[in-house]
Amino acid sequence: MELKQVGEFGLIDLLKDNTIFDSSSVVVGIGDDAAVTLPTPRQLQLLTADMLVEGVHFALETTAPWQLGYKAVAVNLSDIAAMGGTPKHAVISIAVPKHTQLDFLTNLYDGMKEICREFGVNIIGGDTVSSPQGLVINVTVAGEVEPTNLVRRSGAQIGDIVVVTGPIGNSAAGFDLLTKGNWEDYDFAWPLVTAHLTPRPQVKAGRVLAEYGATSMDDISDGLASEANEIASASGIGLIIRAADIPLSPEMIQAAGLFEKQAIDYALYGGEDFQLLFTIKPDQYRLLANQDIGVQLTAIGEVVEKAAGVVLIDRNGNRTALEPRGYNHFR
Ligand code: ADP
Ligand code: MG
Repeated sequence: MELKQVGEFGLIDLLKDNTIFDSSSVVVGIGDDAAVTLPTPRQLQLLTADMLVEGVHFALETTAPWQLGYKAVAVNLSDIAAMGGTPKHAVISIAVPKHTQLDFLTNLYDGMKEICREFGVNIIGGDTVSSPQGLVINVTVAGEVEPTNLVRRSGAQIGDIVVVTGPIGNSAAGFDLLTKGNWEDYDFAWPLVTAHLTPRPQVKAGRVLAEYGATSMDDISDGLASEANEIASASGIGLIIRAADIPLSPEMIQAAGLFEKQAIDYALYGGEDFQLLFTIKPDQYRLLANQDIGVQLTAIGEVVEKAAGVVLIDRNGNRTALEPRGYNHFR
């Protein structure tokens, strides 16, 4: 059945079931002019939005609607995680071509609802309009954080250690497999393709890192090089990153071989890993490294004086400026 047979209101009726996963903080969900939520006293509110445009951020040839829905929410939860917070509510707006199949939209929402259920996030509203061409999805997420746990990009200090929460570059390698190859033919492809299509936001880790005193934090959406430069410029410091210490998965290294690329380039310039990049004092890091926080922490560098810039030390010990050339929409 096509969307135009049920119309806007019929569609909203179909999508609005199973959207509240933590009813304690929702007074009014989908169905009124605005949603009404009950904030936790003395917590700061976090708000973030991400828009995905067909042909720019995704192609329907390489992603299933369920995966697309999952990812559209995941990228927002990752931004809340990078502030040290807990995601609470989502508002979802879609612009839909009128020949879209209803099944497509219910699958899209099933993916959204799945990740919302996993993370206890409520879908409390949105907007539905028609699009003359291509699907557009905008997700806005509200979250909360204890004032003492808020972690910004701007807090890195000289002497801090630079750490990541997991392997970097899997998503970019997964993207190449999806778009250039018959990825089903390669036994190493699955974790990479999964990392690209259904990334897991590091919400729990983000909270723990905040508790342990992370001084700055960013989620890796545009590539490690780009995020490192973001932290450096926001904090007014320099960074030294050791290429040899950046965690690369064996599967990603195999994919790099297949495409005759340098594995390290996937990590530095690929993006969409949604791992967390953070800085922390060395003694706090030692405490943290002894805990099992459900992710593999790896120290990859140090915070240095601003004049040093953002520097990459490659495997041969050569130092070069680490340029922020990740994905940039207007270049
Ligand atoms: P209004 O015209 O007052 O803005 P709508 O008729 O557009 O309200 O929407 C009705 C209800 O459905 C509202 O609660 C709105 O937030 C919700 N809603 C509309 N579109 C979506 C969507 N794509 N996803 C989730 N909720 C939606
Ligand atoms: Mg209204």
